[in-house]
Amino acid sequence: MSRAPRTPSFRDHPLRPELLALYAEAEALLTGVTCEASTDCCRFGVTGREPYPTAIERAELTRGMQAGGVRLNPTSSPRTRLKVADERRCPLLDDAGRCRVYQARPFGCRTFFCERGRDASGDPAVLPRRELQALGRRIADLSARFDPRDPGPAPLTRSFKA
Ligand code: SF4
Repeated sequence: MSRAPRTPSFRDHPLRPELLALYAEAEALLTGVTCEASTDCCRFGVTGREPYPTAIERAELTRGMQAGGVRLNPTSSPRTRLKVADERRCPLLDDAGRCRVYQARPFGCRTFFCERGRDASGDPAVLPRRELQALGRRIADLSARFDPRDPGPAPLTRSFKA
């Protein structure tokens, strides 16, 4: 059975509050935007794209998994365990369609730029793309401080150690 990676906890890292503050800014920018919670954005084979968390976001993701006792969805080998059938479901999506690390989900999961987003009137939401992209750059800068040797964002499905 797959286990969450056992790495030193990111919980008390001095840069974690900065990351959480940036996530909070993203949430604030998207206040009032809702979606039908199709979870399509967690099915990478459906959307044809997936989040690319930075190193510091991967650390927070791992912390969230450790804190919640979350293990990757069991499939077969490390190479294929992140792919569930043709949907390529995120291994952190539960059978009920909920994210098992919701509070620790990376920026790309919070700002998927999905065309299904709706505003308070039920109309297609106009997302603050420029502001969100600027936030993404600040997260990248923060991640560079966290791990200067990291080559950069990586696909979510490659964010877990075998
Ligand atoms: S981490 Fe959570 S929100 Fe992000 S793709 Fe996976 S299940 Fe969906």
